[in-house]
Amino acid sequence: MDRNTYNKLIDDLIKYSESYYKYNISLISDEQFDMMLKQAEKIEEENPSWVRLDSPTQTPGSDLVSSDEGNVHARPMLSLENTYNEEDVTKWYKKMEELTGENPEVVVEYKFDGNSAGIRFSHGKVVKALTRGNGLVGENITNNVLAMEDVSNVKSTFNGECRGEIIMSKEEFARLNVDGKYANARNLASGTIKLLDVNEFKKRKLWFYAYWLEGSKNLKHSQDIDLLREMGFRTGKYYLCHNLEELLAAIKEIGDNRNNLEIEIDGAVMKLNEKRYWEMLGSTAKFPRYAKAYKYHQEVAETKVLSIDFQVGRSGKITPVATLNPVFIDGSTVSRATLNNIEFLKQIDVRVNDTVYIQKAAAIIPQIIGVNLNLRNEDCLEVVSPTTCPDCGSILVKEGDKVDLFCKNEFCPGRIVDKISYYTHVLEIDGFGDEIIERFHYLNYLNKVVDLYYLKDKRHELVLLDRFGEKSIDKLLFNIEESKKVPAEKLLAALGIKGIGIKMAKIIMEKHQTIDEVMNLSIEELSSIDGIGDIKASEVYLELAKEETRALIQNLKELGVNMVATKKEVNDNADVAGLSFCITGALSLPRKEYELLIEKNGGKNVSGVTSKTSYLVTNDTTSGSSKNKKAQQLGVKIISEEELRQLLKMD
Ligand code: AMP
Ligand code: ZN
Repeated sequence: MDRNTYNKLIDDLIKYSESYYKYNISLISDEQFDMMLKQAEKIEEENPSWVRLDSPTQTPGSDLVSSDEGNVHARPMLSLENTYNEEDVTKWYKKMEELTGENPEVVVEYKFDGNSAGIRFSHGKVVKALTRGNGLVGENITNNVLAMEDVSNVKSTFNGECRGEIIMSKEEFARLNVDGKYANARNLASGTIKLLDVNEFKKRKLWFYAYWLEGSKNLKHSQDIDLLREMGFRTGKYYLCHNLEELLAAIKEIGDNRNNLEIEIDGAVMKLNEKRYWEMLGSTAKFPRYAKAYKYHQEVAETKVLSIDFQVGRSGKITPVATLNPVFIDGSTVSRATLNNIEFLKQIDVRVNDTVYIQKAAAIIPQIIGVNLNLRNEDCLEVVSPTTCPDCGSILVKEGDKVDLFCKNEFCPGRIVDKISYYTHVLEIDGFGDEIIERFHYLNYLNKVVDLYYLKDKRHELVLLDRFGEKSIDKLLFNIEESKKVPAEKLLAALGIKGIGIKMAKIIMEKHQTIDEVMNLSIEELSSIDGIGDIKASEVYLELAKEETRALIQNLKELGVNMVATKKEVNDNADVAGLSFCITGALSLPRKEYELLIEKNGGKNVSGVTSKTSYLVTNDTTSGSSKNKKAQQLGVKIISEEELRQLLKMD
């Protein structure tokens, strides 16, 4: 090992670390990063004179984009050392036994996959909130944190700092990511917490999970978590382990269940429970010694990029797509991966012939997460952004200050095919692949969505087409006719109106019975629907008002396509309409089932108790939980599961 190799390694690590913390892009997997970091540590141990001050072995990664003198942490916010296997956990626990001279108690918590923050309170009110930043100095996020419901639930007497993780739930991520614009919940949470406009911030829901409390008199960490919960903070489930076997079992159980949680976790964190050991063991510049993170293995495959092409979507947006040397990952063979958008392509700097790392996002969508720069050579060719549409040759344009490129040609074959393909996909019309749609478009049978319903007039020509026969054409025509019966919430989504994805269509049609009704809504009426903000309402309004949207709906209506939403199954007897419920604690049925029934019968579910809440539902009506206390304070009626079942007329 020579000094140049060491320097190159450190340069790479700095680049990866900056990219991850500042721009939320993983150029390599966490596991590989940690391997390189270990390698760097080893070299530094053997050659102390080489150690660079900027080496990522010496400081936690930084998310700072700007630094500000006033945002120094009262005490450093450290990172956690990662482990990936039972062997290392065993080693760690054995070492803790040695250092403490006993079988120390260990608390195992979720490793929340979000952004750490320290929040300072005075009499229960937030006075300052900082991100971890580089560990010593953080980014000021006070204004946004003040607007978070989670922190406004905190008891009015709390003075001091509390640390935890700001994260976005899977549900909220799905709501905001109908277009698939964002890579994952952590990235979006990270972008959200740093938004400069509080009004924009308020449109997205973030949660704060607390896991550290300043200056409590408790001797044990588990007592601190309990206390945080009592104070009204959101806290995660934790496991109290008394020996190595229990520790390993807890890590396994969290791993087995992690896909069922409401939030993303990327591992488990183990901490010695007795806080006196924390002082005793201290920390390195980067990590505390009393804690360790266990990261669950995420499969990463390496493969070569054969080509990078540009595709045009129904909105005209151009998306880069990589064709890969086929590779097996997480149970299936992957040969293509989208690169999200042109900006992402530029940031991640993937080139044709590069060897890349791929992962499956949410265990389904293959994503390129980074480039193996060690294998880059002069054969790796940079991709040039296109200037013309790959399908129709029109000059591409940018919209406003956005980076994406658009084909504005309404007759662009790529856009038309994608539009029809989207429609058949959402309505689940079987038998249509893009290839068939492309072919029918080429033959002039399909130029717009409504043409689908005129295909039956061309039956005599279609049955003569190569690779089709009477049977397959009749089946296709039958499926097309059947699609006229689909409920209107699906139809509304299938139209491909900007801003109305599957979820949004459902939200709108839950409140309105027919598409005609929706077409006549004012901006105010749209924004009064739960889940639609003012900006979204005006965007949807403008899209619905467009001549082309109106013509499409009118044509579909004349063709006999159903315009009525699914009838809501209302239990006529239920007494919950117009009431709001906050359900908490263990029940005999999954909470979701009650929530669905409440919603179906015209009631509303809320996650926290406010003066507007009608009922707090809990089987532990006398517990001292923060929700119970709040309900009592505000005079909100507390009812049991049994009473809720009576209101829902379930028994
Ligand atoms: P890393 O981001 O890989 O450096 O991991 C360390 C970070 O994990 C800490 O800075 C915390 O922000 C975060 N973290 C998530 N969950 C926990 C937890 N339960 N206890 C402590 N830190 C946590
Ligand atoms: Zn085009």
